Amino acid sequence: MDEEKKKRKFGRGANECKRCGRKQGLVRRYGIYLCRQCFREIAPLMGFKKY
Ligand SMILES: [Zn+2]
Repeated sequence: MDEEKKKRKFGRGANECKRCGRKQGLVRRYGIYLCRQCFREIAPLMGFKKY
C-alpha cells in the first residue's frame, strides 16, 4: 500500500507535457516538462537550440 505514495511523486500523471499533456518523448530538462514537439517550439523562445 506504500507504493501509492511512491507513485504519487513520479507516477502516472506526473510526467506529461505541461503544454499538450502528451506523455511521449518527454523532456524533463531545465525544470520543465514538455514533450519533444512542444520543447522544439518553446526552446528557441527560451534561448535553446537544436532541440
Ligand atoms: Zn507537448
